[in-house]
Amino acid sequence: MQQYPQPIANLIDSYKKLPGIGDKTATRLAFYTIDMDEDDVTKFAQNLIAAKRDLHYCSICGNITEQDPCEICTDKTRDQSTILVVEQPKDVMSMERMNDYHGLYHVLHGVLSPIEGLGPEDINITSLIKRLQKDTVKEVIVATNATPEGEATARYIAQLIKPAGIKVTRLAHGLSVGSDIEYADEMTLIKAVEGRQEM
Ligand SMILES: [Zn+2]
Repeated sequence: MQQYPQPIANLIDSYKKLPGIGDKTATRLAFYTIDMDEDDVTKFAQNLIAAKRDLHYCSICGNITEQDPCEICTDKTRDQSTILVVEQPKDVMSMERMNDYHGLYHVLHGVLSPIEGLGPEDINITSLIKRLQKDTVKEVIVATNATPEGEATARYIAQLIKPAGIKVTRLAHGLSVGSDIEYADEMTLIKAVEGRQEM
């Protein structure tokens, strides 16, 4: 059996590290890359390195940022009394795109999932509790997705926070069950935030 030359075997291995990419797709992408313009490939490689080098997680909210703390956390014109909790940095982008929410964010980087063995210590919850110890926050809007894990995470956060006398709300079910914030259109998101209900 003929082996792939080492550079292409290495490239296939790299592509296989991406989510949802198996042997077949990785091989196709590797051969496609070899056919690409040299400039495009160089740009591609540079973008990968720059994204990893220049982006960090905000030490306050966990969002991706070039500066720490991030632009949202340092923007004093934003409503400091409200924190909207999301699963992933891309959910912050979706919320910001609707341009209707002007509070702060907190990114969990995941959800509680007993099946995958993910407990509270595996997601960004401790730093949320720490933020709430400063007296400025009056409401936490839990905007985890409407999946079983997202719901369980929302309930867990509510139980944790409510004794401190902070209002905890959940996005209204304009978002259909199982749907992701990422894919919701702006009007649906605006309605979901406006119609949020106390947990
Ligand atoms: Zn931040």
